[in-house]
Amino acid sequence: MTTQTPPLVIVGHGTRSAAGVEQFVALAERVRARAGAAAGVAGGLIELARPTVGEAVNALLGGEGAPGRPMVAVPLVLTAAGHGKGDIPASMAREQVRHPGLSYRYGRPLGPHPVLQELLAARIDAALAGAVDDGAGREGTHVVLVGRGSTDPDANAEVAKVARLLWEGRGYAGVEPAFVSLAEPSVPAALAKVRLLGATRVVVAPYFLFAGVLPDRIVEQAGAFAAGHPELDVRVAGLIGDCDELADLVLERYREAVGGDIRMNCDTCAYRVALPGFEDKVGRPQTPHHHPDEDGDHGHGHGHEEPGGAGRVAIVGAGPAEGLITVRGAHLLAHADVVVTDRLVPPALLAGLAPGTVVVGAGKVPHGPSADQGAINAALVEHARAGRRVVRLKGGDPYVFGRGFEEVLALRAAGIEPTVVPGVTSAIAGPALGGVPVTHRGVAHEVVVVSGHLPPGHPGSLTDWSALARLRGTLVLLMAIENLAKITGALLEHGRPGGTPVAVVERAGEPDQRVLAGDLGGLAALVVAERVGPPAVVVIGPVAGVGLASAPAVTAAAVTAEAVPGVDAG
Ligand code: SAH
Repeated sequence: MTTQTPPLVIVGHGTRSAAGVEQFVALAERVRARAGAAAGVAGGLIELARPTVGEAVNALLGGEGAPGRPMVAVPLVLTAAGHGKGDIPASMAREQVRHPGLSYRYGRPLGPHPVLQELLAARIDAALAGAVDDGAGREGTHVVLVGRGSTDPDANAEVAKVARLLWEGRGYAGVEPAFVSLAEPSVPAALAKVRLLGATRVVVAPYFLFAGVLPDRIVEQAGAFAAGHPELDVRVAGLIGDCDELADLVLERYREAVGGDIRMNCDTCAYRVALPGFEDKVGRPQTPHHHPDEDGDHGHGHGHEEPGGAGRVAIVGAGPAEGLITVRGAHLLAHADVVVTDRLVPPALLAGLAPGTVVVGAGKVPHGPSADQGAINAALVEHARAGRRVVRLKGGDPYVFGRGFEEVLALRAAGIEPTVVPGVTSAIAGPALGGVPVTHRGVAHEVVVVSGHLPPGHPGSLTDWSALARLRGTLVLLMAIENLAKITGALLEHGRPGGTPVAVVERAGEPDQRVLAGDLGGLAALVVAERVGPPAVVVIGPVAGVGLASAPAVTAAAVTAEAVPGVDAG
């Protein structure tokens, strides 16, 4: 490397293990020495220990401003998972804020690479020393290759691939992948499997670069299994560690980045391709998440936690009718231990829950049985504290007249930070399902969503009905059926014309949905005559006429005929 070549920052994830940090620093030194130019290489950690990424970038910039050419950042990770896809780029983004003009090329993760398989085989052979001499050697040895484990299936699949590559042609009796965290099979499960396959000697090989809490745990778990199965010879191989081969691999990734030759496998990335159970990741940014058992309190360091994990609460909008929940909401629901529901939740959603899911009803129907909000909040806190995955399912969108934010505040007060998954609100979707667009070019340039829960003139009302009466666009009323006479009276009194088209959509999206059309002057009487009951959404404004007048025959037929002057006229 000469001063003409881009500087290299080697970015590691950090650990509380002093030995692990030492190994990282030693490797960065080794890379620098082997690169041949002292000034161009620095290593930094994204959290938990020093040197930090910021210190490494400062060292490379040497007090000068950002260079005109990009530097190269090589992530010191074996597989493309959360650190490589999200945390390390996020840390480099912070450096770009600190150093305006800083640009960088991002190298790909270290593995899979033939050099890593060779290093693993060398560590396994070292663990077998003695055994090889007694004649058993590789052919009498099963290997359990232990990866870190990830919530990213692509990363777990890479460990399985490395296990296979390690097995091919090297003469081991077998190589099984395992994971120390977050993924299955666990180390004890993989050991039990090879034992059932008839193994008498097993080498547990950590697929880890340096020392840390998780590699230590692998040693403990292997030791515990060995203690329970004295007939089995269980050994643990050393870590890949700081060595020339690894340093040269870092430099290979560096040169690829300099040459613009980044061949990352993205064909099975959960952020690009819908994988079963991971549909909620497609197209979303990778977010740092909670590693419940990583070195230190990893998740807290980021201030983010994996939604839907044990002891977590997700407040999820169910949408107004079956099939209108979000992909993310459905995923959380499918993995919930406890679902606290309300009356407006489409019944089919609950019917489809996994067996064993506990459903707590917290329905609220006007004048019907009503679970006290305090009791709901207490139930959410209690189930979360018991370590369960809790979904609080609310009709439509949680924040549209759903008291969702009250529950957020109650959970925060109890020290629990919930995830909120917005939903399709009946305020917009209800009219749409009934054939009415809430806006239309040239017809309505505003939509106002109003609760009709309190009638005009009620001392607790926060609504200025006279101001609403002066609007020309779309007024959507929720919870308004009971007070409709007072509401339409106030709107008419303050000047909204009696001929303004209106539509009422009852049980929007359900098989027995009804749509009624009329005008503002006749609305209250229409609703009484047709015995409209909750839930129903009322749309007032010219869009109601536009939507229903153009409805095709099949939709019009579903509309109560005598109640649809707009359709008749059209
Ligand atoms: N959070 C919900 C609204 C709760 S307020 C949402 O975003 O949709 C309850 C009111 O929502 C009901 O009185 C009714 O006006 C409306 N509503 C909810 N579901 C509905 C449905 N399927 N059809 C028509 N209106 C509905």
